[in-house]
Amino acid sequence: MKYIKLFENYISGLENYLVYKYKLHWVAKVKRNLFASSVEQKDIEKALEEWRYTGDCVVTKDAVCELCGQPYLHYHFQIKNLLKSNELWIGSECIKRFSAEDTKSIQFFDNYGNRITDERLIIKTVNKQMVDLKKDKKVQEVLELLSDLYNKTMESALNELFDQYSNKEYLTPLQMLWLDNYFSENNIEVNPHIFNVNLSNRFYLDQVFTRSADSIMRLENYLTRDQKEILDYNLNRKRRLS
Ligand SMILES: [Zn+2]
Repeated sequence: MKYIKLFENYISGLENYLVYKYKLHWVAKVKRNLFASSVEQKDIEKALEEWRYTGDCVVTKDAVCELCGQPYLHYHFQIKNLLKSNELWIGSECIKRFSAEDTKSIQFFDNYGNRITDERLIIKTVNKQMVDLKKDKKVQEVLELLSDLYNKTMESALNELFDQYSNKEYLTPLQMLWLDNYFSENNIEVNPHIFNVNLSNRFYLDQVFTRSADSIMRLENYLTRDQKEILDYNLNRKRRLS
């Protein structure tokens, strides 16, 4: 797998070492769960090749990925083992990550029964399924925007934000500011009122206070009237105390 090899070859400095340790842990979990339901017991690529995405994607609540163990998922994708008739329900990150490789990956087919191995096409197909299953129009609008931008630019952060927004239906203030910056750098005009920014968490609110006055003003464009009042109240309080 490209992803695994990338991380196995990518160690320099403490931060990368920690990422490496985390990924090893993640890969170990995937291997354990995969081998438990596959015929192949040694080679992760061979084991993945035994599996096929059935095309079934369902909305769930607080589901766990049966491949990597990631919790709190809003979507489940069904994969079936072609040799053992086992099935697993996995998350969006895993279906995207493990299908988008040459032939040594989960087999992924389009609506016409043609196998797809192109990463961009797989992510586009999966994202479209996820958008279509959302009921809230505003959430759909944000997801469509993120997905379209990702398809055009292949900027991986946009796909990561897509996955987070589809599962949690909010952005943190810092994510919103990153996106705002991305919009202005690329001359993209958006309706700021479609976004849901999470300010209810104390940690996220504190993040806002570390930003410049200009950033806070830009963030306010995306907030509701109530959120702006809360933000102003806390900013004034902070000024009084300091
Ligand atoms: Zn997973």
